[in-house]
Amino acid sequence: MKKHILVIPGDGIGPEVTTWGKAVLEEIAAQYNHEFTFDEALMGHAGIEATGNPLPDETLEKAKASDAILFGAIGHIKYDNDPSAKVRPEQGLLKIRKELGLYANLRPIMLFDELLDASSLKPEVLRGTDILFFRELTGDVYFGEKTRSEDRNTASDLMIYHRYEVERIAKKAFEAAQVRGKRLCSVDKANVLESSRLWREVVQELAKQYPDVETEHMFIDNAAMQLVKNPKKFDVVLTANLFGDILTDEASQIAGSMGMLASASIGDGTGFFEPIHGSAHDIAGQDKANPLASILSVALMLEISFGLKDEAKKITDAIDKTLKDGYRTGDIADANTDKAKILGTQAMGQKVLEYLKG
Ligand code: NAD
Repeated sequence: MKKHILVIPGDGIGPEVTTWGKAVLEEIAAQYNHEFTFDEALMGHAGIEATGNPLPDETLEKAKASDAILFGAIGHIKYDNDPSAKVRPEQGLLKIRKELGLYANLRPIMLFDELLDASSLKPEVLRGTDILFFRELTGDVYFGEKTRSEDRNTASDLMIYHRYEVERIAKKAFEAAQVRGKRLCSVDKANVLESSRLWREVVQELAKQYPDVETEHMFIDNAAMQLVKNPKKFDVVLTANLFGDILTDEASQIAGSMGMLASASIGDGTGFFEPIHGSAHDIAGQDKANPLASILSVALMLEISFGLKDEAKKITDAIDKTLKDGYRTGDIADANTDKAKILGTQAMGQKVLEYLKG
């Protein structure tokens, strides 16, 4: 298979971890006779420093011309400490999502048995959890009209959804449920919100086209509770932008560390794959970042954008073996970890490559 991949390392630990995502793609290409070509581009603080723009025009052009994008993270302490700065790294991320029409954010919550103890939940509650979240990404209060009264004492954000926006992401979620556990839970607040009533209506209508998928509707407050009470009950979870933002961060803690989770943002064109973590200034440049989320992002890319399931599984198996043999980065190590097996970013990336090569 021939594919062109754009790598956007970004800021902070972004370049450190993305190096390993790319190295794994190169190894997979060599093993399976695929031809992956690469290009690189700037975004975030790196884009501002070089061009004054968090999403340089050249980056957007390269993104549109690629088959998939591997992204690191954006963010710099300078902007975190100055909320009034007009030009900001995250503007680059929001703009590229909009320009590429990335309306669905997929976040798998998959647990490696070896890391059950890294979570704050009990291992017996967690074991066997395998959830795929579909969070809507381009609608809701984030993009609805915002108002502030003249006296500045009243404010509002419009929660708005159009039928087509719900339909297109719901279809993707149903299709994913068909090839997974055949269960879909749509999360809303239809007892209170009109936009949620539309959401539920659309999902109920679509469900008739997927009789092999067991569809359930749950209110967001209940879902937030069930997620920590019994995470195994979920297979595919479909939800709107705001509810999804909160629920997926809650779910990330089920997996123990930010350094272990990948996400995919997709629409009808080029897909965008990234770890869920940010640029982590506190550990940047110290060889401490966990590269596994970036490597898992690559597995998602192969499976979702290119349909290469065996190659994706080969990567998750290599990570599984690395963890089973006791290797850890600092963020996933605990009191029982053999000190000699606590690795830095480079050594961990190298270790996964070794297991990948068999
Ligand atoms: P963060 O995800 O960067 O870090 C949170 C904590 O997790 C830190 O203690 C960090 O050391 C740790 N951590 C994160 N990734 C890790 C990894 N791979 N290995 C080991 N430890 C890891 O979130 P934050 O501190 O809230 O934000 C830092 C910057 O990142 C900010 O400028 C923020 O705007 C930006 N940010 C960017 C994205 C993105 O690019 N998608 C997402 C979130 C935050």
